[in-house]
Amino acid sequence: KKSQPKAPRSEKPQAQQSAPQALTPETGAALFEDARSRLEDVFTALEIHPDARARLMQPSLSLQVSVPVRMDDGSLKAFPAWRVQYDTSLGPAKGGVRFHPDVNQHEVTTLSFWMAVKCAVAGLPYGGGKGGVQVDAKALSALERERLARGYIRAIADVMGPDRDIPAPDVNTDATVMGWMIDEYEQITRTHAPAAITGKPLPLGGSPGRVAATGRGALKVLDLWAAREERKPEETSVAVQGFGNAAYHFARLAEARGYKVVALSDSSGAIYCADGIDIATAHKDKTQHGKLSKSDAGKHISGAELLALEVDVLALAALENQIHGENVGEVQASAILEIANGPLTSAADDALAKRDVSVLPDVLANTGGVVVSYFEWLQNRAGETWEEDEVNRRLEALLETEAGRVLSRAEEEGITYRQAAYRQGIERIADAIMARGNCL
Ligand code: GLU
Repeated sequence: KKSQPKAPRSEKPQAQQSAPQALTPETGAALFEDARSRLEDVFTALEIHPDARARLMQPSLSLQVSVPVRMDDGSLKAFPAWRVQYDTSLGPAKGGVRFHPDVNQHEVTTLSFWMAVKCAVAGLPYGGGKGGVQVDAKALSALERERLARGYIRAIADVMGPDRDIPAPDVNTDATVMGWMIDEYEQITRTHAPAAITGKPLPLGGSPGRVAATGRGALKVLDLWAAREERKPEETSVAVQGFGNAAYHFARLAEARGYKVVALSDSSGAIYCADGIDIATAHKDKTQHGKLSKSDAGKHISGAELLALEVDVLALAALENQIHGENVGEVQASAILEIANGPLTSAADDALAKRDVSVLPDVLANTGGVVVSYFEWLQNRAGETWEEDEVNRRLEALLETEAGRVLSRAEEEGITYRQAAYRQGIERIADAIMARGNCL
């Protein structure tokens, strides 16, 4: 039996992103243990060689740095930051950089582990990496954020590069931040190296379609699942936890596809409308007031109430550990789409599997972002710019193949979608580890 998480991030049944419990080193360690516990099933089922198992139990490189930033008032602050490369057997490490007050080494390690699995599930020639800075980025001025982004790249420049480790956006970082980062990297290396970072602004070699890619990929995975279940979008209600980049584009595209998006949330609260929220209005309100609690695109409910809505699909697009052993009993949705990384603990996952709730796991449902990052990297290396339609077409074709494979495997082997995705990913990583030799 899988080990239970020792301490979920939030012990309170009220799981809303407004109050993520600080990820202390202890709870962070539990997060990594919990994530890694999902390997056991794969190791046994696929008879993974002990040499590959040993390699997959810990990150291959973990760098902790301090990023000193001159603040606008003249003072100096030093922010702890990390870059972790979990495994690079399939290719250079790949993964975003997160700015968040709860970031710590264990969280970054866990996120890099998920990146390794995710890239392999999608069949990309990448290993897994992740970066993070422990900072409340919203409390910084734009100039302070720029100094922080540049300082972070100066601190990790030795371990990154187009063939080593390729950062990208994540929570609270976007194309603007990637623009500062690539400029810093190119100044350090005195080269043009657009393929060293993805998610860049378009004039610096960013890819059309990258901003909406995570949401678009999640919708494609939902569509593939719905088609197998013979569910029509018009008859499928969806509640979305979150309203950041991935959530917004997912909600917008899902609405256009005909799904009924009945709820949205952000750190200020949630809104609900049984007939479907007008996503453009909610987005306009959010842009104008900075929070959904000021929007009248729906009735105001709490973040915890959103998680307990009687909907067909609950799309989790905020942070880790939103549904855990304490609040999983309140979930009434018949399927969960994990757009965020790690929104369910393994205890919640096990409980949902027992109740036959389908979970479309993060390492499958949110691959769209990194897949289009890969397309960006390919374009940069070839000196090409593809049309947005071409990018979207390739993304959907890749997911049709790779996600289709995972969904079929789950059916054929009578396992959950997460087990099937992990088997597909870990099998590919383990094969690469073994093919490299140095194994008995
Ligand atoms: N941060 C995103 C993720 O968690 C994208 C990573 C990338 O594009 O490299 O998948």
